[in-house]
Amino acid sequence: MPELPEVETVARGLQGSIAGRRILSVTLRKTDFIDDPVAIERELPGRRIARVERFGKFMLLQLANKNEALGAATESGSADHAGIPDAGIQEALLVHLGMTGNLAPHFSEQPLAKHTHVTFVLDDGRELRYVDPRRFGRMAYLAGETLAAELLRFGAEPLLVSAEEFARRVRSSRARIKALLLDQRVLRGVGNIYADESLWSARIHPATAGGNLTFAEAATLLRALQKILRKAIQMRGSSISDFVDADGVEGDYQQHHKVYGREGEKCFRCGATIKRIIVAGRSSHFCPVCQRAPKRKSGSGGGALKKPTGRRARVARKKTKRKGRLRTSKG
Ligand SMILES: [Zn+2]
Repeated sequence: MPELPEVETVARGLQGSIAGRRILSVTLRKTDFIDDPVAIERELPGRRIARVERFGKFMLLQLANKNEALGAATESGSADHAGIPDAGIQEALLVHLGMTGNLAPHFSEQPLAKHTHVTFVLDDGRELRYVDPRRFGRMAYLAGETLAAELLRFGAEPLLVSAEEFARRVRSSRARIKALLLDQRVLRGVGNIYADESLWSARIHPATAGGNLTFAEAATLLRALQKILRKAIQMRGSSISDFVDADGVEGDYQQHHKVYGREGEKCFRCGATIKRIIVAGRSSHFCPVCQRAPKRKSGSGGGALKKPTGRRARVARKKTKRKGRLRTSKG
């Protein structure tokens, strides 16, 4: 699934290629990933795309004011799309690429690719097409309070959040740090790849409780995360499965992964064997030597890291064992 760097890459590409263009008409095919298809057919024709920005793991195609004069000068956006969208933004098309979504402009004479579900005809002879074989994406026209309410559901922007704010968010929770990094209400935009990579870089075990991190550890983790995200954006993201940007170009950052997808290989830092465990229901890759497992608290309940007891837990442990996955944090 595209994460912050991949979505940023696509958003920057689209900002360069379609911002300022007017949508002449809309054709919808399969619509089960669209919140309200009728609203898109009703609201988008005639509207100009003022700006394309990333917000968390999705894109916002901001629409210019309905009443703007035809042929008005196009807004030129700054190169930094990492920030919070304009306070003045009133209407937008939200696009989440899901697992396999692709949104890109094509010349209208180019044949439609299979699984093209949405076509926006643009005023320069091109078509903005949304192609998505698996349709795990999402598309929605959002305006006014609905748009504001949608954006408020999400946490801090990882590239902008201060160390103090980040530390406050993760240290106030008993949840495991891996789960907190993935929780879009805590931080918006981080997924499995960049969570694992930043935890390895900061030498923090993915099952460590957020509340057990020191301020210094949280600050180190944020620095690692930001450095990795910036580098990944420079490299146009990671092309796992079939991610390509708005120009159809693959990212290169997968060649720089230190732990993600490297189970059984040697740690680049210490030579130990990279392990994979399940934390918060997700595969987590880590080095058992560089990233020490959190100690289980004796007495007082043990918090989030206590091994579950009782029949149910025993059955669950047996099941996970059968799957060949380690449930606990022991290497
Ligand atoms: Zn190591």
